[in-house]
Amino acid sequence: MGYKCTRCKKNVEVNFKAMGIRCEYCGHRILVKERPTTIKRIKAE
Ligand SMILES: [Zn+2]
Repeated sequence: MGYKCTRCKKNVEVNFKAMGIRCEYCGHRILVKERPTTIKRIKAE
C-alpha cells in the first residue's frame, strides 16, 4: 500500500515494522493513504 507525503508530495512505501510511518525522503511524519481508483481484489491462495 502506498502513501503520499503531505510535505514533499512524494509517494512513499511505508514499512511499519521497521520504522513506523515516516517519509523516507524528507522525514515528515504525516502521510496520507493513496486511494486506488479501482478496487483491486487480492487473490487468496
Ligand atoms: Zn516527504
